[in-house]
Amino acid sequence: MNKRRASVGRVLVMGCLLNLSGVIARAQTPTPAPPDRPEAAKADPLPMISDRARKIHASGLLFDGHNDLPWRLRTEGDFDLKRFDLSRRLDSGQTDIPRLREGGVKAQFWSVYIPSEHPDPARTVVEQIDLVKRMVARYPDAFAMAYSADDVERVARSGKVASLIGIEGGVAIEDSLAQLRAFHALGARYMTLTHNKTLAWADAATDSPRHDGLTPFGERVVKEMNRLGMLVDISHVSPATMADALKVSQAPIIASHSSAFALCPSPRNVPDSILREVSRNGGVVMVNFYSGFIVPNAGAKVRAVLEEIQAKYPEGPARRKAIAAWRQSNEAATVRGTYRDVADHIDHIVKIAGIDHVGIGSDFDGITQWPIGLEDVSCFPRLTDELLRRGYSEADIHKILGGNVLRAFRRAGEVAMRLRATAPPEVDAIKEEPKGY
Ligand SMILES: [Zn+2]
Repeated sequence: MNKRRASVGRVLVMGCLLNLSGVIARAQTPTPAPPDRPEAAKADPLPMISDRARKIHASGLLFDGHNDLPWRLRTEGDFDLKRFDLSRRLDSGQTDIPRLREGGVKAQFWSVYIPSEHPDPARTVVEQIDLVKRMVARYPDAFAMAYSADDVERVARSGKVASLIGIEGGVAIEDSLAQLRAFHALGARYMTLTHNKTLAWADAATDSPRHDGLTPFGERVVKEMNRLGMLVDISHVSPATMADALKVSQAPIIASHSSAFALCPSPRNVPDSILREVSRNGGVVMVNFYSGFIVPNAGAKVRAVLEEIQAKYPEGPARRKAIAAWRQSNEAATVRGTYRDVADHIDHIVKIAGIDHVGIGSDFDGITQWPIGLEDVSCFPRLTDELLRRGYSEADIHKILGGNVLRAFRRAGEVAMRLRATAPPEVDAIKEEPKGY
């Protein structure tokens, strides 16, 4: 990311390193936005973040629902965690310790994502959980593991980032409730029921539906997650699966990284009918920053441009240069949206579900396009500043930043205590063993 920035200059705005080339270019040439591109008018130069906003941000507990750094460390770094020194400001990616501190991140669900069609799902998720724990152990002054709401508050008070594990994709449990329990024992505290692909027991948002939501086994997965105190995560699942999970779950559910369907009709976003159910359930929808989930058609527009560039240039530096140049252009800035679009999604969820049911699920290091003003984990105070400008009180901003998800997580723990005292574990039907054993 900074390689691209280096070619166009860098601007430091109150500790938030931003690429403003497109914004500045627009500010210097005051051409009115064409009528068919009204969103261009939104990309004004970034205002200063007020001292009051910074104070409110620092006194809250920012608890981000989704960050894909572990997969980046696996695929772009090395398994020994030596290639990327997280204690220094990296010139790539969206997450490192200095930027987490600038952004005031106090608790983070680290995603132990694996692709939906991975040939070894359970083993690979175990390796990613192991990687998160080794990352936390490698930087003991910056991180500490957290497994409960009390842990989150204690670690945050100590000045470290409370680090939690979230499984992305129920494919990880390989259709086994014993495997689900093993993941809880390893420390996983949420699981998206699916990732992009429909499973044998749950329909995904971005695949053909096969079950009209959850199968009876899928309902047992939700019940067992309630009994364990693992948050049921409806990000990535179809609306029918969301509705089934809400019907079955006795504990608050979350969408760890999804935005509002009414403002951006991506299948990854949450429709209003589900937002109302989440409100009744006591759950939280945590807004995803990915441009394609924030601005209508952003994903399709970006894909079309990239396909055009790919057709024009063969593999190699010329293609990379063309993609980088486009990403710095005014047009790309317009397509990406801004932090204000993200605040619009928060406003909408507040309007439909209520102030107690919205949170932040950035998806940093898992996204390829992001809004102006929210370039990396150092930029969260920008959102607090915007919420303050929109008239949210300090108490409401604290709920959005993390109070709501902390409440839902605490409640899920209480429900688990009650269920464990009254109900036995859901047991798998043991599959027939191979002959000779
Ligand atoms: Zn995701």
